[in-house]
Amino acid sequence: MSDTRTDDELRAAISDGDRARRVLAERSGALAKTTKARIERLLQADRTAAFESGELRFAAFTRCECGAGMAYPPSIGAHGEWNCSAILRGKAPKGGTHSPPLAFAFYEIKSEAQPSAGGATTRPADEHGPLPMDGGGL
Ligand SMILES: [Zn+2]
Repeated sequence: MSDTRTDDELRAAISDGDRARRVLAERSGALAKTTKARIERLLQADRTAAFESGELRFAAFTRCECGAGMAYPPSIGAHGEWNCSAILRGKAPKGGTHSPPLAFAFYEIKSEAQPSAGGATTRPADEHGPLPMDGGGL
């Protein structure tokens, strides 16, 4: 397979790729920021920011102190954290005790989307939404 493009054409293609990568990074950064703000509102008990369970990736096994699975919206990007899914879904009863957020950077938590989870999930049985795909929303 020989590429017949000239050196200048190849340089232009690389430059286009760099521009595209930058735009993608900006878009996913903006989405992560919006998602983070939404989570902050939920942590302040503003239920109007609630996520649908189909927007969340749940932990395979790890649960919050309240019993709900830990979860995160994939749109949070690479620097997010696991939170109580009852809080993220706007369904946490008032006054409950919840585990603190678990940052991706510090906790290895197996997600339901990992093949090694073998189908295990803490997703509520009555709310089997579509599994967000890797990179979904980015
Ligand atoms: Zn909880």
